Amino acid sequence: MSSDLPQFIAPARLAEATACIEGRLDLRNMDRLRGLLNDSQGVVDLKLAFSRDEHGFACITGRYETNLQLVCQRCLEPFATKLTHSISVGIVFDRAELNKLPETLEPLLLKQETLALSEFIEDEILLGLPISPVHRLKDCAADERVRKYGNVEENPFHVLKELKIKRDR
Ligand SMILES: [Zn+2]
Repeated sequence: MSSDLPQFIAPARLAEATACIEGRLDLRNMDRLRGLLNDSQGVVDLKLAFSRDEHGFACITGRYETNLQLVCQRCLEPFATKLTHSISVGIVFDRAELNKLPETLEPLLLKQETLALSEFIEDEILLGLPISPVHRLKDCAADERVRKYGNVEENPFHVLKELKIKRDR
């Protein structure tokens, strides 16, 4: 855990203070994410701002950036990918509040006042990951093997390949 970031945060209290936090977390402390990585060395850079929106909800907005070592689900070779995502979360403390939360905010249901910062960011990264991470097609070893089968135009998987190209973009 980085020394410049708190281990636990109290979003409602930080929202009262319109606080900002900025720093770096270690990927190795993120157990669920680690299982998906080829190599768990690395960090997440993050910057978060806490505020109350016009409806009174405590909000966490900001962004994170990380470089992940994933395993391509098409050729099973490791590859590096940069993930940059914005965060726009509204805190609710009971389910009844969920319906009142503006749609622009992703709901975060808290059972207690504090939350573990590393787990929160880990959740955000897991949500931001592709369901099936793959290389860009031109970098993928599986694509080499597909090409060896000859004329791609006559290959019945051509349509599938087109779909994957679109998804990769
Ligand atoms: Zn691949």
